[in-house]
Amino acid sequence: MDFMNHKACLVCGSDDLSALNRYRKDHLVKCRSCSFVFSSKKPSDEDLKAFYSNYGFEGDPYFSPITAKRYSELLSEFERLGSKGPIHDAGCGFGFFVETAQNMGWKASGSELSSRAVASCKKRGLNVEERADISSGPFQVVTSFELIEHLYDPKKYVESIKKQLLPGGLLYITTPNFNGLSRYLLKEKYNVINYPEHLCYFTPKTIHQVLSEMGFEKVWLKTDGISVGRIKTSLKPSGEALISEVSADEKLRSRLENNVILYTLKHFVNKALSVLGLGVSLKALYRKK
Ligand SMILES: [Zn+2]
Repeated sequence: MDFMNHKACLVCGSDDLSALNRYRKDHLVKCRSCSFVFSSKKPSDEDLKAFYSNYGFEGDPYFSPITAKRYSELLSEFERLGSKGPIHDAGCGFGFFVETAQNMGWKASGSELSSRAVASCKKRGLNVEERADISSGPFQVVTSFELIEHLYDPKKYVESIKKQLLPGGLLYITTPNFNGLSRYLLKEKYNVINYPEHLCYFTPKTIHQVLSEMGFEKVWLKTDGISVGRIKTSLKPSGEALISEVSADEKLRSRLENNVILYTLKHFVNKALSVLGLGVSLKALYRKK
């Protein structure tokens, strides 16, 4: 078969792979042994360069106050779980997480491939390096927001993070949940599935498998949220940034934050999605053994 570049599962090495016909144009296959879903086609370096030359960093960066609040809650949790050692954000984009951590008194750094994003970080006095891989540690905490799904070799990536983490250090990873409700609702219109942007598609089971095999133990693992913006852009691709001041998500998020009943309802829905493992976002907090 022409689309079968990978002859073996990227996670468990099994060669028992089946094509997911609904996502054939994105070359998706599922491992029958461990259930990991990935692109069986490996993009060339030229393809990736062409795809990422303008990726996601057009326009002015916008940092939502609600995201800021989530970031500081997360940082407080890291602090409760260990010492407030050096923290690093891999693929830090415009550096909002690094900036939030720095403002809360952490020794914070980031790494990022986009030179435009790095220039913005440096202008704001953030310690961010322009590079494809993670900076040299050692770090107490490494965060990786919505990055691992872009990579072709997730195990190598986790290994590279592990090398820079102190023993007992924390790794926080977010990635879309392949079993999330949005994919079931949108079917082939679900625009998270997109070659060569996304190459690995995790579920709670498969992200746990990768992290535990690589020598991490679970602190917690959950799915949450349903993104109105993602559903809108999936149904009508408009080029509108996923998070901007005017996006549907942001309007809804801000209404939810300001309305007790809606807020309670949102928590109830999130809880239900989380219990069912159907939330659109996978969030994993693990500790290096
Ligand atoms: Zn497998």
